[in-house]
Amino acid sequence: MSARLLGLHHVTATVDEAQADLDFCLGVLGLRLVKKTVNFDNHGVYHFYYGDERGLPGTIWTTFPYKGWNVPKGIHGKGQVTVTAFSVPSRSLDFWRSRLLAAGVSFVDLTSGFGEPVVELNDPSGLRFHLVGSDGDVRTPWTGAGIGPEHAIRGLHSVRMLVRGSARTLELMTGMLGWQVVGEAERATRVSTGGDGPGHVIDVVQAPETPVALNGIGTVHHVAMAIGSDDEQRRLREELMTMGVSVTDIRDRQYFQSIYFREPGGVLFEVATVSPGFTVDEPLEQLGRSLKLPPWEEAERPTIEAGLPAVAHA
Ligand code: ZN
Repeated sequence: MSARLLGLHHVTATVDEAQADLDFCLGVLGLRLVKKTVNFDNHGVYHFYYGDERGLPGTIWTTFPYKGWNVPKGIHGKGQVTVTAFSVPSRSLDFWRSRLLAAGVSFVDLTSGFGEPVVELNDPSGLRFHLVGSDGDVRTPWTGAGIGPEHAIRGLHSVRMLVRGSARTLELMTGMLGWQVVGEAERATRVSTGGDGPGHVIDVVQAPETPVALNGIGTVHHVAMAIGSDDEQRRLREELMTMGVSVTDIRDRQYFQSIYFREPGGVLFEVATVSPGFTVDEPLEQLGRSLKLPPWEEAERPTIEAGLPAVAHA
């Protein structure tokens, strides 16, 4: 089957404090804030989108800062994405070690199961990130935090998801969803779609002995894959329903349209359209500067703004 999904679209996590999240993602990682909006399902909580200059699919990391909402700390485990990996040039890993040291962020050096050099760190909420040294990633990085283009994050590299047993997960991914197996390591299967470079990769890891994940602060909520058009998304949704997968209706997320479903291992998948993207409601150079609300919420702006914590960012 030809690839129907173009690669990763974004990864979304529940984090603690809004300001700490901004400071870390902008100030330490050097990502661009490409949209400041609210959780469409809870207007008292921000939704931050970080990425490259435009927030292209495959570069996007998004957070819901839930501090103050009595959301418990989550548990990393099976049925969840437990590592979000970003792509940097291999020769830049030393730069990143120094940068993290200077920022007081502890890290460890590892080699991934697929042979790549990795710097592993946690964000302020306890989310696990990998900086993966990957050469030949031609994506143009955002360089807003003073990190030169030779070192800056190119975008997402991959995610690592834990499941009890991977057979049914891989059956769905390599069947209807069109992913291809591109690597096997101990307990891990690497699949890719729309190419096999950074931004196109998921590592499915069998971890039967690991605790079951609990959604909460410091955990990834879902991983989204990119699809080229509304028509393809509608078709995929129908096929999933025919197969008995419980899939949501098509939701308007203002910057893309989405469907959501759980794969057999329990990980929440989203399939999101590439269009219209983040310039639909503000010009490219202004992205992320002001609070954007979907048109259907504009009438509530004063109430919504009053309920959100004040934040400062460049
Ligand atoms: Zn999403």
